[in-house]
Amino acid sequence: CDLVVLATGMVANNGPDPYAQLAVDTAETEEAKAAARQKLEHAPPSILNLDYHQGTDLPQLKYGFADSHFICFPYETRRTGIYAAGPVRRPMDIIQAQDDAAGAALKAIQALENAAGGRAAHPRVGDLSYPRFRKEGCTQCKRCTVECPFGAINEDEKRYPVFNEARCRRCGTCMGACPVRVISFDNYSVDTVGQQLKAVDIPDEFSEKPRILVLACENDAYPALDMAAMSGELITPFVRGIPVRCLGSVSLSWVTDALNSGYDGIILMGCRRDDDYQCHFVRGSAMAAERMSKVGDTLKSLSLEPERIELHEVAITDTKRVPAIINAMAETIRRIGLSPFKF
Ligand code: SF4
Ligand code: SF4
Repeated sequence: CDLVVLATGMVANNGPDPYAQLAVDTAETEEAKAAARQKLEHAPPSILNLDYHQGTDLPQLKYGFADSHFICFPYETRRTGIYAAGPVRRPMDIIQAQDDAAGAALKAIQALENAAGGRAAHPRVGDLSYPRFRKEGCTQCKRCTVECPFGAINEDEKRYPVFNEARCRRCGTCMGACPVRVISFDNYSVDTVGQQLKAVDIPDEFSEKPRILVLACENDAYPALDMAAMSGELITPFVRGIPVRCLGSVSLSWVTDALNSGYDGIILMGCRRDDDYQCHFVRGSAMAAERMSKVGDTLKSLSLEPERIELHEVAITDTKRVPAIINAMAETIRRIGLSPFKF
């Protein structure tokens, strides 16, 4: 043979994954626990030595590169104020890395300006609110600490949450996660959305009009709905939409309350989750899906059909698909009948 081509590769060098210990703690089988423990034992030494309750280095993607929102906001890591560039976030050559470094530096400047003004980091740039919790109601369950995608919650010596405002991106995932609903923002809470749900007029059983609720993520799903309406797409008049910060902020109590108040169908619309996620808050959409997987028990306890609740991943460009999803739900309700909770 005249020529041998040897493939080269890049190996990520990012320190230990902060969620490796969590993977050990939450593994459901002994094999999964052993595999997670082995990964933890072979983790490289820390590079950044960050002072985070959740670990010393940047959260990682499958191959060990820093999780830096590779589709929508390429430089943003899950540690607010740290921007990944070059092969820290994915394999690339030196020319690409130079461009990347310029983008990351601009992001860092934007973050500094926001921090100086007490504002949230991207994407809720300009938001001055931050989460608070009612201590007397807190059960120290740690759900908020575990689900916050950005490690913005620590714990004090009594295991009560301690919110770090400089790290918080105001996604509301902690609010949606809290089983006893004690986390809220001044301008967004379980109660304010609950009131919006209840303020919607529910037609009585004699008018035979269904009522469908859409909880739409304000980042992609809600603008997609808006654009669909502006471009004249036909959407059933029986739907009512409420924007949410992120599907991660959706409390299961909204779903239960809506079902109890006589809504016939509920659609949750958020960004794509998992490996090729587009969620603006990285894990919010995935957390919502996990929570909603348990909604079946609620439906069963109310003797309602599972078709009454759907969760969809949508993109901002889905201006034709979004009306189709809603109209399909209207058709489903026509087929299975109105909710018995109107009666
Ligand atoms: S609002 Fe989001 S970023 Fe802030 S503490 Fe809650 S989960 Fe974390
Ligand atoms: S999720 Fe709610 S109850 Fe649990 S620790 Fe956080 S604030 Fe307390």
